[in-house]
Amino acid sequence: MKLTLMDHPENSAEYKGLTVNAGIEQPERVNPYFRRAKRRQMTAAEYVEGILKGDVTILSQAVTLVESLLPEHQAVAQEVIEKCLPFTGQSVRIGISGVPGAGKSTSIDVFGLHVLEQYGGKLAVLAIDPSSERTKGSILGDKTRMEKLSVHPKAFIRPSPAAGSLGGVARKTRETIVLCEAAGYDKIFVETVGVGQSETACHSMVDFFLLIQLAGTGDELQGIKRGIMEMADGIIINKADGDNIQRAELAARHFRNALHLFPATESGWEPRVLTYSGFYGLGIKEIWDMVYEYIDFVRANGYFQYRRNEQAKYWMYETINNTLRDRFYQNPAIAAAIAEMEQQVLRGELTSFAAAARLLDMQR
Ligand code: GDP
Repeated sequence: MKLTLMDHPENSAEYKGLTVNAGIEQPERVNPYFRRAKRRQMTAAEYVEGILKGDVTILSQAVTLVESLLPEHQAVAQEVIEKCLPFTGQSVRIGISGVPGAGKSTSIDVFGLHVLEQYGGKLAVLAIDPSSERTKGSILGDKTRMEKLSVHPKAFIRPSPAAGSLGGVARKTRETIVLCEAAGYDKIFVETVGVGQSETACHSMVDFFLLIQLAGTGDELQGIKRGIMEMADGIIINKADGDNIQRAELAARHFRNALHLFPATESGWEPRVLTYSGFYGLGIKEIWDMVYEYIDFVRANGYFQYRRNEQAKYWMYETINNTLRDRFYQNPAIAAAIAEMEQQVLRGELTSFAAAARLLDMQR
């Protein structure tokens, strides 16, 4: 079957306003020797100037540069980030996590509108999803996932950097925060698809970690890893609407009881459990009152700055570790010898430690 333009998913009646046009057929070139000039790569200073002015197009291009793997792009990107650094740090950064289907998109749409309306300023929504692939229609995905926010003039939504190692993806998101803050975004949401390590990465770059949960069959605590719960500054139970309200309240009680068993948090804040409905917009204000109460609380007791300092240190060591590891494995002499060493270990001719020591020595 031949697809017509109207079959394009963005042209379904549901998304009107997003009509995709094919345009008209273009005539042949009049001058056969004409070549369109290649767009000149902007300098770092030009990027920074655009970002500081809050130019969304330049901000997007700078983020693309940060995400690029080309060494020449990386060089410019790092310069842009460094020049933006003095203009950052003024924002509130919130991590939002939950398993697929928990209602992250629905909730972020509502949360975003609420904080913009209630507190003003500008909001950037970023993501850490090591499994995401740009090509699989995430443009459509993000337009429709957060329907209202995506057309809000004060919101900037950026899908996760393309699939890669978790460390790599997370680092790019962390660098994108710097650019967004320099562009005047004073509220940053970092969304993460919650099932494991991406939470830890997210936690390492936000001030408040919000965990979205659903009421289950009463044993919801089993499926959720203790480590993730321990990271949460707030647990919110979604879909507390219709005949699900009571189950949501019951789940909230279970979570509260479980939280009591954890040791006191470093911040001195007692994580809270609330119920809400993203879909019907119920209980949203209470959630954001809680988040901002926390921010005031940790700003007053010094933990806010302490946590940011710890995160800055974490990212320094994280980068050192990754770079050392990459250099090691990419070293041609090591790459050539490592398989043979592995075989010698398997044949029992060499201990694991001796093999490792020899390979490490080759790097000197
Ligand atoms: P995500 O995968 O975490 O981004 O979840 P979505 O936001 O896409 O939501 C998954 C499904 O749950 C969708 O069908 C939503 O319509 C539904 N949903 C989200 N929030 C609520 C809610 O508050 N109440 C109810 N009843 N359904 C909701």
